[in-house]
Amino acid sequence: MADPDVRVAPWWRMVGRALLLRCPHCGARGLQRGWLRLVDACPRCGLRLERGESDYFLGAYLVNLLVAEFIVAGILVGVAIATWPDVPWTLIQWGGIAAVIGGVIVAYPFSKLTWLAWDLSLRPLTAAELAWHRRGGGDGEELPHR
Ligand SMILES: [Zn+2]
Repeated sequence: MADPDVRVAPWWRMVGRALLLRCPHCGARGLQRGWLRLVDACPRCGLRLERGESDYFLGAYLVNLLVAEFIVAGILVGVAIATWPDVPWTLIQWGGIAAVIGGVIVAYPFSKLTWLAWDLSLRPLTAAELAWHRRGGGDGEELPHR
């Protein structure tokens, strides 16, 4: 029987929790210290949000960039189609720049937690890894991988 602390939720539930800014693993709240700052570890289950890997932010960066860019590109294409043939190109140019910058900031916490949810679905948490997270990780102790 699976350890209830490392029971793997379906991917869609973990992504849903992430989109509600909750811990993808256990669903706990309280992961934010501000819009652009998250806690190091979940206050309930102890999972470190970067899973103890120094380059973990790259996945969140990719999700953030793709989501922000596709949403803004879709909106700009919609504006161009809706206003054709008198497309406000200057508004699209400067509004697009502002929207991309704003979109990346708005999407930041969602992308970070969504990446964690995706990673947890691809590399499920083990009891050994969760114990490592709860001990605080680091301090020369290597992260146990599957
Ligand atoms: Zn948690």
